[in-house]
Amino acid sequence: MDYRPGRIFLSAPHMGGHEKNYVQKALEDNWVSTAGPNLTGFEHDICQHTNARHAVAVNSGTAALHLALRLLGVKPGDEVLCSTFTFVGSANPVLYMGATPVFVESEVETWNMCPTSLQEAITARQAAGKLPAAIILTHLYGMPAKVKEIIAVADAFGIPVVEDAAEALGSRYGGHQAGTLGRMGAFSFNGNKIITTSGGGALVTEDERLAEQALFLATQAKDQAPFYQHSQMGYSYRLSNVSAGIGRGQMEVLERRVKQRREIFSFYRSQLQHIEELFFLPEPKACFSNRWLTTVLLPPGHRPEAVRLALEGENIETRPLCKPMHLQPLFASYPYYGNNLSARLFERGLCLPSSSSLTEEDLEKVVKHLRRILEVM
Ligand SMILES: *Cc1c(COP(=O)(O)O)cnc(C)c1O
Repeated sequence: MDYRPGRIFLSAPHMGGHEKNYVQKALEDNWVSTAGPNLTGFEHDICQHTNARHAVAVNSGTAALHLALRLLGVKPGDEVLCSTFTFVGSANPVLYMGATPVFVESEVETWNMCPTSLQEAITARQAAGKLPAAIILTHLYGMPAKVKEIIAVADAFGIPVVEDAAEALGSRYGGHQAGTLGRMGAFSFNGNKIITTSGGGALVTEDERLAEQALFLATQAKDQAPFYQHSQMGYSYRLSNVSAGIGRGQMEVLERRVKQRREIFSFYRSQLQHIEELFFLPEPKACFSNRWLTTVLLPPGHRPEAVRLALEGENIETRPLCKPMHLQPLFASYPYYGNNLSARLFERGLCLPSSSSLTEEDLEKVVKHLRRILEVM
């Protein structure tokens, strides 16, 4: 990462203060490996906050999604539907399974998976001879997707939905927490997310058997025996008890972090909405977004890359919106359904600094330079 003193980061880790107590206790008691009270405590905190029945802490959000596909019995050659407007961590697990990703376009209200494009994709794949095995639904930038409509389509075909809620911890849809609306949900605690364990993730589910199996597979699938015996292929995906200690401290401040990120969004919107054709995504009625990142669509005539570089000159970090998966060289040969909305968003959009640790002064600096750049360039 480019670091100059005083840099304004897109999304920096932000400790609450008690993390070091949990970590110190782990070191004192020698619980430094992949078992211990911080792990159970952290999983308990995740369940408390999200109302999920079960949580399994793992070492990344990508690992959680991989486990979810494994638990659904996705086989090599199966097709898995996936949001195209997302981060690669949503789609790589499909390749890990030897399965084929089928990308589905977004709709304009949430920028997440379009129920109509989903229906079109499923119908087309079915006509081509095979019903997809699962749906990976991303809530990008913390904005919940149109879950009710998506699940209605999924249920009509009996296809399970896995939520990629990596960016959406603390977001809600119709009063329910993102991540708890599908068969399973995945969170990420990577350093750039709303809370962090330095690196980590969690799988949540209502289904006790799935949770047990997830833990079993995440810890090398050891059969019950005094020696190491294995009947299934497992993974080394368990989170460490030291990292989980950071997570426990972070869970204490999650609600505050959501409030802070939402306030950052409101501040930018109030300060910049007078700029003609600068667009902020509103929150649809059923959605409560954690506003993990504030995103804008720039007025026509302003290239995101030019704005990004101009802000970079002021030591301010921004990032283009996600380049859609169906336009990635890695995924170019896979099926895609939709009208290319995400490609147009990618060409016009920018993520603004959204770290909860930003001061009023920092935010005012971003606003000042954005105004200058957008009103002059
Ligand atoms: C961060 C992220 C992931 C992956 O999480 P890791 O913990 O980095 O593996 C997956 N999907 C989305 C949408 C993400 O933002």
